[in-house]
Amino acid sequence: MPVKKTVRDYIRTIVDFPHEGILFRDVTTLFADPRGFRLCVDQLVEPWAGSRIDKVVGLEARGFILGGAVAHQLSTGFVPVRKKGKLPGATVSQAYSLEYGEAVVEMHQDALQPGEKVLLVDDLLATGGTAEAGISLIRKLGAEVLACAFVVDLPELGGRKRLEAMGMAVHTLCE
Ligand code: 5GP
Repeated sequence: MPVKKTVRDYIRTIVDFPHEGILFRDVTTLFADPRGFRLCVDQLVEPWAGSRIDKVVGLEARGFILGGAVAHQLSTGFVPVRKKGKLPGATVSQAYSLEYGEAVVEMHQDALQPGEKVLLVDDLLATGGTAEAGISLIRKLGAEVLACAFVVDLPELGGRKRLEAMGMAVHTLCE
């Protein structure tokens, strides 16, 4: 009998990208495979069957690909968190720290209503800084983050602990 592939089996590692010494977990091979993509979207959605979720928020850019598919499967709306200067309407913004320097992410001011229940989606959790900035934006609009869902967790970088310390439920598919 052939062994069933897991989500992890579809992800490849690129050595020295974007800098020397970095092992980049490349999910484009997962997204490109029809079984792989179906498997990961099904697993991201599974815990929320029967729960009330009003919006899926996806983080630029791979969180758009996953978040769109997850929102479609949950029959919710989709809201993008974008890098500064990309959204056309009035925005709320949040700065966060990168390895070198700072970045700013934004969300449309009217994208979420107070009290709405949100699932935050991205491809990979490393230090948790990007997800924390997304959570801050959602909370600024008065909505509630039910959980954060990622395909990959890099536990040695501490993102899960950081988000759990904020009271967040964190759902990941592989390490
Ligand atoms: P964090 O803010 O948790 O340190 O980094 C997570 C963000 O960086 C995510 O938006 C993710 O897309 C991106 N990222 C960092 N390292 C990798 C990687 O090895 N592979 C992929 N696919 N994304 C990464």
